[in-house]
Amino acid sequence: MLFMDFSRCCERLEGTSGRLDMIDIIAQELPGLTDEELPVFVRFIMGRIFADWSSRKLGIGPNLLFEAIGAVAGVPKERVVGKINSTGDVGQAVEELLSVKSQMTFFHEELDLVRVYTSLIGIAEMEGKKSQREKLLAVRRLLGNAHPLEGRYLARIMLEELRIGVGEGSVREAVAKAFRVDSALVEHAQQALNDMGEVARLAKIGPDALRDVQITPFHPVRMMLAQQGSISDMIEEHGEIAAEFKYDGSRFQFHKKGNWARLYSRRLEDVTGALPDVIQQLLAATDHDVILDGEVIAIKDGKPMPFQSVLRRFRRRHDVAEAQEAIAMVPNVFDILWLDGETLIDLPLLERRLRLEAVVTQYVAPQVRGDDPEVITKTYEDALAAGHEGIMIKVPSSPYSPGQRGKNWIKIKPEVDTLDLAVIGAEWGEGKRAHVFGSFLVACQDAGKLVPLSRVATGFSEEQLAEVYELLKDSVLKTSGKEVTFEPSLVFEVGYAELQASSNYEGGFALRFPRFIRLRDDKDISDIETIGSVRERYKRQANTAQAYQK
Ligand code: AMP
Repeated sequence: MLFMDFSRCCERLEGTSGRLDMIDIIAQELPGLTDEELPVFVRFIMGRIFADWSSRKLGIGPNLLFEAIGAVAGVPKERVVGKINSTGDVGQAVEELLSVKSQMTFFHEELDLVRVYTSLIGIAEMEGKKSQREKLLAVRRLLGNAHPLEGRYLARIMLEELRIGVGEGSVREAVAKAFRVDSALVEHAQQALNDMGEVARLAKIGPDALRDVQITPFHPVRMMLAQQGSISDMIEEHGEIAAEFKYDGSRFQFHKKGNWARLYSRRLEDVTGALPDVIQQLLAATDHDVILDGEVIAIKDGKPMPFQSVLRRFRRRHDVAEAQEAIAMVPNVFDILWLDGETLIDLPLLERRLRLEAVVTQYVAPQVRGDDPEVITKTYEDALAAGHEGIMIKVPSSPYSPGQRGKNWIKIKPEVDTLDLAVIGAEWGEGKRAHVFGSFLVACQDAGKLVPLSRVATGFSEEQLAEVYELLKDSVLKTSGKEVTFEPSLVFEVGYAELQASSNYEGGFALRFPRFIRLRDDKDISDIETIGSVRERYKRQANTAQAYQK
């Protein structure tokens, strides 16, 4: 397929608003494509270059692209940027700039869809010191051969933003229609493969190829997700259910074949380099080839750390060894998707669980099964007492549904902790909030004295800020710069993630992630929390952290 034909197809899609019409346009193109063209076309039409499982990047920033466009169009980069700002779209800007230029040139080497793809792969593979220069030259070569319309879509593809309104759902329907296969089969294959290009190739072979689809190690699978729900509803609906602790860390997917292992994050990024300790632990836990799903939590001085510490480790690129010493990571494995060459996602959870227990000797998250609400509630209480977030309830007969937030996994966790606190000061807002107070100083009480505990600046709607301003504006005692002090009259219910010991506030504590929940105009200043109760909560928090170590 010529890249020009692909571009014309994009142009038609861009001018079409009905979803069914779009599906028709795509479905008409697919059967005529070669095996090589089909996956490329399908990914490109969704604005993607690489398979969804791939963490490969083109490595072309907007700056480099604008410079290349300028060089090809024979204008300074600033003009390119100006054009993009005035059109609001890189594609259109490139098309306009190239059409001025193309009136002056006579020769074009015709661009071919697969060759464009191969060039982009080549660009992605350029690494090292000189790579930016090499990438620039390669992009210039590609754009230099592009007709204005091709330039429009090529530039957008290079930024992986095609903007023609084609989503995965439409492509799925188009593939089903083009090759006369059930769209549920296409969806099923896409769940396992995470690459619509490859799925289209299988659909062309036939329904059996889609049905027999196999997960490939080192092609990460989208994570199955959870909904909110209740213990009683789940038992009523399913009878026996499976409950596991809900660990407050970061999701991981571990792939291992022989001695080769990689770890992927929830967003399917390869985080192997940042977490060698987790890889080592999991390698030691099994001799089999596996893909495991789990949650890694952080432990410091024997205590579970807030999940931010885990995230920090996931992002770590340098000084990994030092970070390992300070914070120990512990994986908790709760599912298995692939074992020694066999794809397991369609098996019921109970059977996957049996395999998991048979082949992984450590770090498997305990599971409690039963249909007695008391037993499950006890598990929930145990989870909280051990410092975890709550529990996950899973339907024992359910398959593993990659990327789905369905009803087969339900999360149960407590409401955020809240404190009722007096508003004793504020700071004027900024920008569109300049006429109201934007952040508030809140306090608890200590034997009749008010003790500042935190600043609260999030959780407010514009209406709430206006309302609070009306309620407080006549209580201003003192103004200094942007700061005001109030005669205390108003009580806020404030949510928070954690109490921290802190010397920043007089009372010796601070709130992590304080958030306005609501106005407690039913409460008086004398009803607010005391420093004693705050201390109690802090102790309880520390105890649960300690209980966790055992
Ligand atoms: P949430 O992020 O609140 O929607 O809750 C779902 C997340 O809980 C999952 O994506 C996992 O990262 C995490 N999680 C912790 N423990 C478990 C578990 N036992 N089973 C499944 N997910 C878990």
